[in-house]
Amino acid sequence: MKRAGIRVAGIVQGVGFRPFVYRLAQQYKLNGFVLNDEKGVWIEVEGEAVAITSFVTALSTEKPAMSMIADLQRTSLPVQGEDTFVIKPSPAATQRFAFISPDIATCSDCQHELQNSADRRFGYAFTNCTNCGPRYSIIKDVPYDRPQTTMEPFGMCADCQEEYDIPTDRRFHAQPNACAICGPYYRLLDSKGKEILGADPLKAAHELIKNGAVFAVKGIGGYHLVCDAKSETAVATLRLRKVREDKPFALMCGSLARVEELCFASTKEKELLMGAVAPIVLLKKKNTVDLAQAVAPGNPYLGVMLPYAPVHYLLLEEDDIWVMTSGNTSEEPIAYKDEDALHRLAGIADYFLIHNREIYCRVDDSVVRLFQEEPYLLRRSRGLAPAPIHLGGTGPMVLACGGEAKNTFCLTKGDAAFVSAHIGDLANRETMDSYAEAIEHYGRLFDIKPELVAFDLHPEYLSTKYADGLKLPKIGVQHHHAHIASVLAEHHEREQVIGVAFDGTGYGEDGQLWGGEFLLADCQGYQRLAHCLYLPLPGGEKAVRQPWRQATWVMQELYGKNFREKQTALTESLPNGWELLLQATANGLNAPLTSSAGRLFDTAAALLGIRLYNHYEGQAAIELELAAGGVVGRVLPYEITAGNELDFRPTFAAMIENIHKVSRAELAADFHTTMAAAIHEMVRRLSRLTGVHKVALSGGVFQNMTLLRQVYGGLEKEFTVLLNRQVPPNDGGLALGQAAVARERGRL
Ligand code: ZN
Ligand code: ZN
Ligand code: FE
Repeated sequence: MKRAGIRVAGIVQGVGFRPFVYRLAQQYKLNGFVLNDEKGVWIEVEGEAVAITSFVTALSTEKPAMSMIADLQRTSLPVQGEDTFVIKPSPAATQRFAFISPDIATCSDCQHELQNSADRRFGYAFTNCTNCGPRYSIIKDVPYDRPQTTMEPFGMCADCQEEYDIPTDRRFHAQPNACAICGPYYRLLDSKGKEILGADPLKAAHELIKNGAVFAVKGIGGYHLVCDAKSETAVATLRLRKVREDKPFALMCGSLARVEELCFASTKEKELLMGAVAPIVLLKKKNTVDLAQAVAPGNPYLGVMLPYAPVHYLLLEEDDIWVMTSGNTSEEPIAYKDEDALHRLAGIADYFLIHNREIYCRVDDSVVRLFQEEPYLLRRSRGLAPAPIHLGGTGPMVLACGGEAKNTFCLTKGDAAFVSAHIGDLANRETMDSYAEAIEHYGRLFDIKPELVAFDLHPEYLSTKYADGLKLPKIGVQHHHAHIASVLAEHHEREQVIGVAFDGTGYGEDGQLWGGEFLLADCQGYQRLAHCLYLPLPGGEKAVRQPWRQATWVMQELYGKNFREKQTALTESLPNGWELLLQATANGLNAPLTSSAGRLFDTAAALLGIRLYNHYEGQAAIELELAAGGVVGRVLPYEITAGNELDFRPTFAAMIENIHKVSRAELAADFHTTMAAAIHEMVRRLSRLTGVHKVALSGGVFQNMTLLRQVYGGLEKEFTVLLNRQVPPNDGGLALGQAAVARERGRL
């Protein structure tokens, strides 16, 4: 006989861990108990030594799908001679526990119940169990118990209570447990918020959507705007009302079969779609299904998801393909409070499908694509946040304020980095208001009182201004250093690497706008070894939305005053005032210098006449990539100056020289391949110079798969290449990098 105490830390509460331990103890004929406490799960078992060892192994190998074990420690205890195994109540929490599960997509057991007319949860839109359902979005405070969630107003009926109380039940201590008798329910409202009584709201909604209506549907983390993706009128109406010109809409398909008719999907991609996170997955379109033109104009990729909440299973039939885009106008944050939604979406939605369970934390859909068969994130939110990212070591508690657009923030404690769900663009008033609230909420949930605050060097970022207002020691982190540090943090990399940060723009230490950077970096610091040649950004910020500006400057730089003789799509369609703009730029008026690689892609797109104006962030670059069609092109000339600056003006010149001879598609491909070749050559040089053979790639430009594939493919033959996998390479990952740098510097 032996007795063992087992400490399990990680995401082990609210995911069916105790019933699992209970069953396992029965199986191995062990006695003792299991309980939740502030550190996770504590187990004491006694029985045959061999049985205990098998039991401990099974804890890890057979753990519930939604759990995550961060640490498992076993200690020997004196035998007490118990004769049963029980689930004990949690001791009064002395300290808050550190892990909260993200929201989990409906599990297959719950799916079956929903669709089984003999089951008491048939057709019930809030069905969940310990293996699935809302978590983070409904938690007001910790410990995670029903009274601390937005399920608090709903008293459980006798049947639900029984499920909740029986240790072996799938709903044992499932905090959001509910049924049609006792739980929340949907209502159908017209565009003015007046309830439409009578019909089953879900059935009526399905009918109306099939007939072309635009709906606002309250879901897990906020409101979606929904319409039939096959209806030209409905999709066009939604675009018009949402004030969204070209940016692709995400879709939800009623079944995997429907996804496969619509898009190419590998085994891995299908796993992602059907998994517990159930994100939007970017998939290549097959062009076999007649979708409305306006879903994703000119884009060969579609953002697709499968139903992940009971309401989706009940609303969509297997054949349905619906637009499912976030409930907001253009750049505003997604609506999640009923009153706000009814107000803000009134001009967009014809009807509202609304429910009476409060969403406490707004959480957008996550967006993922595969790179090298592994997930590569574009937005880390629902299903992923607020699970911790492990840093592989301890350090001070840090608040990292993140960037400006695609903002997330990050709080650290011990080994864990809690990167927030997607917050959005702070320049928006509503977003900024929720930012401070969300930081406080995270601090409460994870019991973190920051000792240090990290922020971007850009003095105008609202996140920087927020940091300014805090009475804490401050650590400013250069934007691209933070991008590279985010990769280092994820990979627990402590050695110096050559960091390639190819990005939009970020504030540089010299006051210029950086964005095509080669850094010798670790989390402690960095040295800027090389960068893309500075070019002016005529008109400053405006040039980001208007790629024709820098492109026109490049034309004049290459061909002088008479550049219009080249007669390209760009020179033929210059807007009024271009001469003044070039003059002002020549005089250094409102023309900051930038080494941004993102702008080079914009400029290439404008030079080729692909896009002169961006209607959404990165549009020109995205369309340039689409034009290239994934093809490997030729390496056009480029130069490396004595000061290690990458000069792509010769590349642009070669493109212009060929513009009337070679197709735009070929030139677009050539530009990507040239960029990849230049990065490769520069990394090789810097590696010889420094003796460093590890390379980290990050920054928004590496969302360009054509570029990433070629850069990665070239570099990995000679170097160890690290990428972001747990946070996006775009500014959504900045906060993690800032936190990693601040922890390292804060150690001194
Ligand atoms: Zn379930
Ligand atoms: Zn009930
Ligand atoms: Fe950036």
